[in-house]
Amino acid sequence: MSKISAIILAAGSGSRMNSKTKKQFMELSGKPVLWYSLFQFEKSPVEQIILVTAQEDIEYCKTEIVEKYGFTKVQHIVSGGKERYHSVMNGLEKTDGDYVLIHDGARPLINRQMIADSIACVEKNKACVVGVPVKDTIKIVRDGKAVETPPRNELWITQTPQTFHTGLIREAYRKMMQSSNASVTDDAMVVEQYTEYPVYFVEGKYTNIKITTPEDILTAEILLKKLF
Ligand code: C5P
Repeated sequence: MSKISAIILAAGSGSRMNSKTKKQFMELSGKPVLWYSLFQFEKSPVEQIILVTAQEDIEYCKTEIVEKYGFTKVQHIVSGGKERYHSVMNGLEKTDGDYVLIHDGARPLINRQMIADSIACVEKNKACVVGVPVKDTIKIVRDGKAVETPPRNELWITQTPQTFHTGLIREAYRKMMQSSNASVTDDAMVVEQYTEYPVYFVEGKYTNIKITTPEDILTAEILLKKLF
């Protein structure tokens, strides 16, 4: 049996939220946003959880979230870095599973089906991401002008979890850091750019939103009541 780890990212500053409380710790139906992801992973086949947060929030996460709610699978709470990919790399150092799910702690509406589907996919394909087809027409805009309209039927919104064979994602990150032009917004990009492995899509849910701006909290409150 393969061992499965998860890295849950909660080291962002949340500058687009315009709030004193960071988005991953804001209250959502009585619990911190981060609680919801930890809860779903705790109840899943994942054996090891690594929580990545800002250095100054490690104590809060330990006492007010992990211990308070009894998340026994959280084996390490490590500090994040300046960019999301720095935080991921810090988490990868502690990962000892054969496969690793990397999840944004700011996506509280993840469910156990997405986790199960990601694990099933990665055991076959080594690199898998959860996503959904776009509903709108997307344009590339420069200087306020549309310069290109990629075909909609080829566009997918990429969410998390993003799941990888641990050796593969470590090697991809190592190569990226050697390349001196590290600039990625998700983990799949690292595999796309620095390995030959294809990244497979697992169909997720439109409800798996990332809390980014204040209205996302309201949307998440409503969805939580309907979905769980
Ligand atoms: O900033 P963004 O919304 O893309 O962040 C996605 C996830 O990555 C969030 O859960 C955030 O806390 C995390 N993050 C991180 N370290 C950073 C930036 C973002 O752990 N330096």
